[in-house]
Amino acid sequence: MTGAPPSVTGHWNLFYYDPEGSPFRWLRHFSALPDRLLANRVSRRIIKEMGRRVLGLGPLFECCVTPRLLPWFNWVEKDNIYEPGGIAGAPSIFDRLTEQRVPYRAYSYHRGSDQEIVRRARRDMESREANFFFLYLSELDGFLHLHCDDAVGCESRLDRYAGALRELFDVARSIDEDASFTITSDHGMTPIRHQVDLVTQIEKLRFAMPEDYLAVYDSTMARFWFFNERAEREIVQCLDSMTCGRRLSDDELRQLGIFFPDRRFGEVIFLLQPGWLISRSDFNGGSWMPSGMHGYHPDDASSDAVFLSNREPARELTTLADVYPYLREAAGLTVPRDPVPTLEMAG
Ligand SMILES: [Zn+2]
Repeated sequence: MTGAPPSVTGHWNLFYYDPEGSPFRWLRHFSALPDRLLANRVSRRIIKEMGRRVLGLGPLFECCVTPRLLPWFNWVEKDNIYEPGGIAGAPSIFDRLTEQRVPYRAYSYHRGSDQEIVRRARRDMESREANFFFLYLSELDGFLHLHCDDAVGCESRLDRYAGALRELFDVARSIDEDASFTITSDHGMTPIRHQVDLVTQIEKLRFAMPEDYLAVYDSTMARFWFFNERAEREIVQCLDSMTCGRRLSDDELRQLGIFFPDRRFGEVIFLLQPGWLISRSDFNGGSWMPSGMHGYHPDDASSDAVFLSNREPARELTTLADVYPYLREAAGLTVPRDPVPTLEMAG
């Protein structure tokens, strides 16, 4: 959306370490309560609803960190990133469209199901009130998480999308025969072959959260902050003894555009090898058993995204960030004077 890496936009993982700015500081008063009261389904649900409705954390907010530890964390995606001003650290395509007064429409899960989005976009196209349309269709992601190995099911799902998008393309061309039409994804889906119970491995070391360390477990990544040298040494040792993943070095974080000098996303970041899944994570309580996952190293071939267009891009696309200049060009925007930060320049 910005062409800039996470180290510039600030948008990477959803939870980041921020004890001073945490919207959950008030929960500290409850931290003495046992987990069976604080971390049960009902209280998680209450925290989720409060986050979304009272604390202004947006409709995506999920309580995927143990409530007892929430006061140490903040949440990245407070605003709708598909609207102007939605991304704090860099102007997005939607800021540029607004600035240059290009009439456009953007649709995402904030506004309905994929089917509703396509229907609405078609109606808006026919009304000719806008000439740039951005549709974010997210349901294929959910489908692929559960049916990654089901080739027939995937094929029929893709057929359905192909039909809907073909119709949309026809409508666009009936209005403007030079209309450009582009389909791009933000990531692939890797089949899951192995699981690791990382949480149990780390808990076996018998250090305490939040006194000795903090950890956030996602499906493919574990992130740690330390307040005690021995905890750091032993947890790092434990991570380094595992073959299912590895710690990312600062050089690698810089190369990938995800290096944050304040370590807000983790002092130690442990990334699983493609095909591995953290079986019990904060994001997934254990009842959800996906067959596919994303969030591995971009080198993983199954993580490749797709870019299809009837219009040749002026520059070859090699990373996801290259979609941004293409969007700008397709929308007929003039290039802003301030250069867009590149991966090399960032961090
Ligand atoms: Zn997903």
